[in-house]
Amino acid sequence: MAPKKRRRGKHIPQRTCIGCRTVSSKWELIRIVRTPDGVQIDPTRRLPGRGAYLHANRACWEAAFKRRAFARALRTTLTQADIQRLRAFMETLPAEELPREEPESEANGG
Ligand SMILES: [Zn+2]
Repeated sequence: MAPKKRRRGKHIPQRTCIGCRTVSSKWELIRIVRTPDGVQIDPTRRLPGRGAYLHANRACWEAAFKRRAFARALRTTLTQADIQRLRAFMETLPAEELPREEPESEANGG
């Protein structure tokens, strides 16, 4: 049935955050998916359906709301329930972007 998958190399799937439009590895992004029950957060990234990806910070979600990126990316119209669900999830996220690589700007001599 399924072809054997070899683990060779380190291919990390890249996805674009619909909030800030930055490409990141899929594992750094939160997936949302359109299901028959509405738009849902997909923590397992395995639900079938059209999905979209966002960084785990509120700024990206705000940006996505503002430009209606959810509806566009998922090719659907968000219901009020969808919006509330997404907003409720957004509230659980840190307000700021997660720290990535920190530049060593602090030259601190003893
Ligand atoms: Zn983002």
